[in-house]
Amino acid sequence: MQEYKLFIDGEWTGSSSGETFDDFNPATLELIARLHKASKDDVQRAVDSAEDAFEAWSRTPAPRRATILFRAARMLEERKEELARLMTGEMGKVLKEARGDVQEAIDITYYAAGEGRRLLGETTPSELPDKFCLTVRRPIGVVGLITPWNFPIAIPAWKIMPALISGNTLVFKPASDTPLLSIELVKILTEAGLPRGVLNLVMGEGSTVGGAIVKNKKIRAVSFTGSLETGKWILGEAARDMKRVSLELGGKNPIIVMDDADMGMAIDGVLWGAFGTTGQRCTAASRVIVQEKILPLFQKRLIERTKLLKIGNGLDENVDIGPVINNTQLQKIARYIEIGKEEGAKLVLGGRIIKPLPGHFIEPALFSDVTPDMRIAREEIFGPVVSLIRAGDLDEAIKIANSVEYGLSSSIYTKNITNAFKAVEKIEAGITYINAPTIGSEIHLPFGGVKSTGNGTREAGTTAIEEFTELKTVYFDYSGKLQKAQIDVE
Ligand code: NAD
Repeated sequence: MQEYKLFIDGEWTGSSSGETFDDFNPATLELIARLHKASKDDVQRAVDSAEDAFEAWSRTPAPRRATILFRAARMLEERKEELARLMTGEMGKVLKEARGDVQEAIDITYYAAGEGRRLLGETTPSELPDKFCLTVRRPIGVVGLITPWNFPIAIPAWKIMPALISGNTLVFKPASDTPLLSIELVKILTEAGLPRGVLNLVMGEGSTVGGAIVKNKKIRAVSFTGSLETGKWILGEAARDMKRVSLELGGKNPIIVMDDADMGMAIDGVLWGAFGTTGQRCTAASRVIVQEKILPLFQKRLIERTKLLKIGNGLDENVDIGPVINNTQLQKIARYIEIGKEEGAKLVLGGRIIKPLPGHFIEPALFSDVTPDMRIAREEIFGPVVSLIRAGDLDEAIKIANSVEYGLSSSIYTKNITNAFKAVEKIEAGITYINAPTIGSEIHLPFGGVKSTGNGTREAGTTAIEEFTELKTVYFDYSGKLQKAQIDVE
């Protein structure tokens, strides 16, 4: 079994406390790695190293920074299959999804590298003669990145690559359940030529290691993806030092199925949207709001199709649903199944923990007769649990869709163009899909949510650069005299 150290100031170094933590395969419960746990001193060393590296890295021309990212993207491509298998063995998602996770990292790396020749500002006319106005993008400084376990390489890459191309130096903490892909990513970037101190990797508990990053005064911005609870805490702490914060938090994403929809396509969408990644996606469809006329047939066909899904170790190419990440998550999902029953919803399929398998497996669950006020219809479960909710018409469906505190992704299945445009206009979410499920974002478009899903920032797309740069406005006056804006305008 392999032991992994922290990566600080360009060296793999042991934790100063000597403490470690263990990493398990959720499908087999095998111990797969032992990791060094960073102490507060280690976090401080990582921050100091990032601070020292900032001057040289931020002054390196962005197209030269890009060459390192292009090289890293090619290395990720070459190692795609190996990394996907490593991911399935650590996180549990089925192999084809793990390949997609690595592909997302490849895509964002190329995309960010391309930004090295853009990093666009704007030029505009001045209201005064002989004056030139423009904006330029500047890096923020030392940035802290904190990521969850459900996209072990895609989410780290979503943050690391745009942050690097923008000229920042980084202290990065991955989730303790899935550090291995982050370690590989750091190795790849180092081999691709990233200078010492530009990217530092610290691992360990959220509250201590993550907390030390958030509280460190030299860290000028924190980019966080994870739960609402942690996000709220980070926002409060960061406010003390006026740090910039980007929060990508939970979701309770609805699929609306209208009675004019192509039912087969909608069912395919629900199966993929709800049970892909065993429901452990921030964009997972956990509420399916169906127009009442088609609900009985829709429910019957959804049950039939869900029964066909194969559960097991994601390394088996025939498996549709892998394990959930750990026992805490398994018990949380099981508890929500009980809550649903207690609230009066009908469990029409699944929901049992699968005992003979050694790992953390649970059957995909379907609840019917769910009302929007029930906890299973409002709270993020982060597992393969679907609530079927009846709606009379589109207005009611949208009202139900909007009745939760989250607003990340959403979807509508309809053949009626008016329904589609109304949904785009009225659903309170950062993303709306038409005739496609709630998952499947592409890296060159903004990603993020409204309401409690975040604080208004967006990752990926051109917005990824906004997250990691400061805009400086520049006025060049070449008139040779004092000119006063707003005053010398007659
Ligand atoms: P989590 O909040 O428990 O942990 C996320 C990360 O934060 C981990 O690295 C953890 O160690 C760290 N952390 C925990 N407490 C901390 C603290 N006090 N200070 C600093 N860091 C701390 O979330 P999770 O269980 O790993 O991930 C699941 C959640 O992530 C779900 O709510 C899901 O919806 C959300 N998520 C959101 C998106 C998105 O883009 N909106 C994407 C994926 C996952």
